[in-house]
This record gives sequence, structure tokens and C-alpha cells, in this order.
Amino acid sequence: MAVLNDAAHVKVVGLPRALLYYRYSTLWETFFRSLGLQVVVSDPTDRAILQAGEEVSSDESCLASKVFMGAVANLIGRCDAVFIPSYASASPRVGFCTKYQSAPDMAANTFRDKNLPVISLLVEHLDNEREVEDAYVDLGKRLGFSTKEAKRAYKAARKAQKATDELWAKNQETALKDIKRLRHNTGDAPITILVVAHPYIGHDPFMADPVLDALKEAGAIVLFADETDKAHAFKKSFEFTTTMPWVINRELIGSILSLQDKIDGIVLISAFPCGPDSMTDDAIMRCIEGTPILNLLIDAQNGTAGIQTRVESFMDILQFHKKGGYLHE
Ligand code: SF4
Repeated sequence: MAVLNDAAHVKVVGLPRALLYYRYSTLWETFFRSLGLQVVVSDPTDRAILQAGEEVSSDESCLASKVFMGAVANLIGRCDAVFIPSYASASPRVGFCTKYQSAPDMAANTFRDKNLPVISLLVEHLDNEREVEDAYVDLGKRLGFSTKEAKRAYKAARKAQKATDELWAKNQETALKDIKRLRHNTGDAPITILVVAHPYIGHDPFMADPVLDALKEAGAIVLFADETDKAHAFKKSFEFTTTMPWVINRELIGSILSLQDKIDGIVLISAFPCGPDSMTDDAIMRCIEGTPILNLLIDAQNGTAGIQTRVESFMDILQFHKKGGYLHE
């Protein structure tokens, strides 16, 4: 089934719980609900969803892309159409991973024999607010709504997403202030770890929970780099590099630079094989000095035992480091 142009019959919209859903879930859910449509989100990732994605993906696809295909498959028979937007560029010479750009065509072609229509839109320039609004309004019109209704839905969605992003950033600031106060009052605080991962990896229970659980069991406070104020982090990333072409990797690096003096360690989590991360993780490992870094690569075959052992060892090193074990004045 190709990408739908006339989608006026669509009453139930499916959202794959993968890739940019973890960045724009509030925007998308609010947009469709404001139009009076029903929204169905695919089930949280589990082994069955990954296997379904693996069956229809090429071996070379990254784990996140396989999970995305499994999430799309999970929506077959549960919605009138699945919403898969294409996001291309974020600002001059900075864009999104090509996987997000090709996602609608990839899903439409892969599931062409199934009853799974795709509705989509193209955001060519994320920094052009008018253009983004027009893309959503056009989708609203294809869904059978007037320009006015679609505009109203988009404005409500944009406001809700902004509030969500601000809340994440505020919660992170509050957590950092609490840690600072604790250090000041007691001279100590739990080890604070910044998890640096694309949001659909760091917040996907199937991919990240083994790492997060091991960190929490070892007593760490966990902060997420993707929850730092995005605009600030993006700007900050230019102190690290002027040439990096991926917006989310930029935001993650900007978060590291912003929080480096407030954390004890960094855990990088990447999905195998990720082109953008293979380059940026290497740059982070080489150029971020003074903060211990654990670099974890998650793939479909990984057991959790190896990860637990590596996280525990890393936490042991940080505890030792904190007590002055590795300090050389
Ligand atoms: S950024 Fe990496 S993990 Fe994410 S979709 Fe692209 S290749 Fe996959």
C-alpha cells in the first residue's frame, strides 16, 4: 500500500513506538486527537516486536530501524493508517539521520501486501516554523479537515510539545540542583551518570532497561542527555564541532558540554550498526576529557549479562575515582 494522499476515511491513526515517536509523541498525539481522531500506539518493544522487524529488514539495518519495522507490523489490523512522517533537515547543513527521511517509503514498500496504509508529511526545514506548520496543515486537509481546523490542531500540538520539552528540561535542572544541595549539605551524593543515547534507544525499555537497571542497582542517579534544553544544547555543540551534520547527535554532545562539570560519568548507548553514532561516539571518547565514559553498543543478539558486568565495573571505577583513587595532582 502506497503513502495515502486522500485520507479522509482515516479515523484511527497508528503511531509506531520507535524512532522520532520518542521525540515528537506529544506533538503527534495532540495533533490527531485535536482533530477528533483516535490514536493507537504500538506496544512497547519486546523480543517479538524486534523479531517481526528483523524478518522484514536487511541484515545491515540498525537495531533501531528493525525495532521501528516491528512497531509498524504491530499496528497491522489495529488502525486505518499508520502515521510516518519524513524529517529531513533541521537547519543549514544539519539534518536528521537518513533512516527517518526514508521511513515512510520503507514501511509502505515493505508492507505493501498488507492492509496498512501510510499517511505522511515531509518536514524539509525544521527551523522554518511556517513550513512545518504548512506540512501539518496539509496533512490535516488530506484527512478531510478544513484549513482552520488543521491549523488549530497543529497550534495545540506545538504548544503541548513545547510544554513537554520544557518540563523535561526543568526536571533535569531540578535534579541537578538537588544533587548540588546534597553535596553541599552532606559532602556526598550518589554517583551521577549522564546517559547519552538517541531518545528511541535511551527510553526504549527493551534496548535500554538492562543498562538503566544496572546503573540504578549500583546506586547511580541517571540523567538523560536528550532531556537537556534542546535549543541550548544544539547551540553549545558548535563549541565541539562546526561540521557535525546530525541534529540529535549535536544535541547530545551539547548536553555533555553543558553538564560535564555536574556529573561523575557518561554512558554512551548506541544501536548497532549506527553510522552517526560510530562517528560521534569516537569523537566523544577522544575529545571529552576529565569525565570517565562507558561506551555500550546494543545489538539484537546481546544478552544482558555482559552489559551488567560492564556497568558494575564502570560504577566501581567511578566510586574509586570519587574517593581520590585515580586522582593525580
Ligand atoms: S541515528 Fe543510528 S540508530 Fe538512529 S536510525 Fe540512524 S542509523 Fe539507526
